Amino acid sequence: MSGAAFALYIEGLSVSFDGFKAIDDLNLYVDDNELRVIIGPNGAGKTTLLDLICGKTRASAGTIRFLDLELTKRPEHQIVRAGVGRKFQTPSIYENLSLLQNLEVSYPHGRSVFGALAFRRTAALRERVDAVAEEIGLQHQLGAEAGGLSHGQKQWLEIGMLLMQEPKLLMLDEPIAGMSARERDITAELLQRICKGRSMIVIEHDMDFVERIASKVTVMHQGRILSEGSMDAVKNDPKVIDVYLGH
Ligand code: ADP
Ligand code: MG
Repeated sequence: MSGAAFALYIEGLSVSFDGFKAIDDLNLYVDDNELRVIIGPNGAGKTTLLDLICGKTRASAGTIRFLDLELTKRPEHQIVRAGVGRKFQTPSIYENLSLLQNLEVSYPHGRSVFGALAFRRTAALRERVDAVAEEIGLQHQLGAEAGGLSHGQKQWLEIGMLLMQEPKLLMLDEPIAGMSARERDITAELLQRICKGRSMIVIEHDMDFVERIASKVTVMHQGRILSEGSMDAVKNDPKVIDVYLGH
């Protein structure tokens, strides 16, 4: 089967840390316009998988192709340029800049904070900022300092900073950790909105939340795929109940 059929095509992926196989001969295929949720017990290798895709960690074997580009040997900045955006568990926003400035510095043509702030605010940039601010629901707070936002708002801002680069693959690691019930609701809607026109991978533990956003779920265990399919299929898979949902 040709890799061109999938946006993201991963085969035979492995990585070891001191002899321990954190990712073990893993295959994963994600379509265009697909929001894939990855679940699994702590230590299953979920975060490591994202580290491998974004080039933070080097694979010891296997292939990662994104839109027919081999990513495995590329440096992180080239992977970003290929359209891969990744959000870590803790937000990395500029607390003492405004939301507007946070979004501006994330625009692809302004690499450094100072360069980006000094460069002329073109109409295209402002248009993009406004569109993203509306997508993340923070269009009325653009002038506010990012440090004063709630925990949930900071997470949305960071998603917005990634959206400024118009990623074709967006990966979020536990985006609702620490959020209130209301913030979780808003985030579920946000993710469904922004997955249009790109591929997304979301790692999450909260099963109610997963149920709300997922069409297809991948369950990882010990660096491998334990089960994959619709939410209903994986929820009723005895292997999944045994190692994950049963606890
Ligand atoms: P998950 O995100 O599913 O909870 P992780 O991917 O964080 O799991 O971790 C998988 C396993 O790999 C864990 O046992 C973890 O301790 C180990 N691990 C992850 N990153 C490293 C690293 N850089 N060095 C050594 N061990 C690591
Ligand atoms: Mg993790």
